[in-house]
Amino acid sequence: MKIISLQDIRKAFSTQKKCEAYLRKARWPKGVTCPKCGSKYHIWMPEQKRWFCKDCRHQFSLTSGTIFHRTKIELPKWFETIWLMCNSPKGVSAKQVEREIGVSYETAWYMCKRIRTAMKHNVFQNGLCGIVEVDESEIKTTGKGGGSDKNTVLGLFERDGYLRMEVIENFKSLTIERVVAKNFDQVETIFSDGAHWLRFLSKYGKHEFVQHYKHYVNDEVHINHIENVWSLLKRGIVGVYHHINTKYLQAYLDEFSFRYTHRKDKGSMFDKILVFC
Ligand SMILES: [Zn+2]
Repeated sequence: MKIISLQDIRKAFSTQKKCEAYLRKARWPKGVTCPKCGSKYHIWMPEQKRWFCKDCRHQFSLTSGTIFHRTKIELPKWFETIWLMCNSPKGVSAKQVEREIGVSYETAWYMCKRIRTAMKHNVFQNGLCGIVEVDESEIKTTGKGGGSDKNTVLGLFERDGYLRMEVIENFKSLTIERVVAKNFDQVETIFSDGAHWLRFLSKYGKHEFVQHYKHYVNDEVHINHIENVWSLLKRGIVGVYHHINTKYLQAYLDEFSFRYTHRKDKGSMFDKILVFC
């Protein structure tokens, strides 16, 4: 099914039943499986709307363990919100969800929070591999008492793969190395600018740096992706959120990373959130 607008989503998933059918297929493409033991021997209990696993006696529903579990919000509202969050390049505020989906602000905020958790999990599930661009930037947020905060953010981008960003305390090598060590898995080549605090990167792979004053891109040695990320990110913060509170910055970065990572395969984003357990 090709979904290109919020209208399409509303049509395709207009009822709880339609959403349930889709969720069931996305979650268990090969048939319903017990989330606890993986067994396919279960019976459906229509009264409780749950399955009973004959192997481990676990009871589970279609939404057990998903972000929809134990919420009273109808699935069509969830599906619309997920679509909105996956398809707005600069992000969506709870205020906007409230307006566009027609739910209370509290409900909108709650859905956004749960969807972000699924996004974060997706972005951080595996270590980074291959060619990685490393760069840091300063992001302004609103701090306590309405004052302006400057945050240092480290960005790691695996070419054709995952983007990750982390708020760090400072530009010191030790601080950056801690984040790098945690996120690198089988990294072969690292591209960064020539900052002295990034020199340690050679310990983690073949390290090449871009000299900015040279105004040209040396073949594949560049950090254009991550520089593009900074500009999109800053425009998003100004355009959508007006101000972003310092304490929500990391959550916002995770959401942004998820969308950027899957930007070339938007259809898959939707399903990734649905089946997250
Ligand atoms: Zn079981």
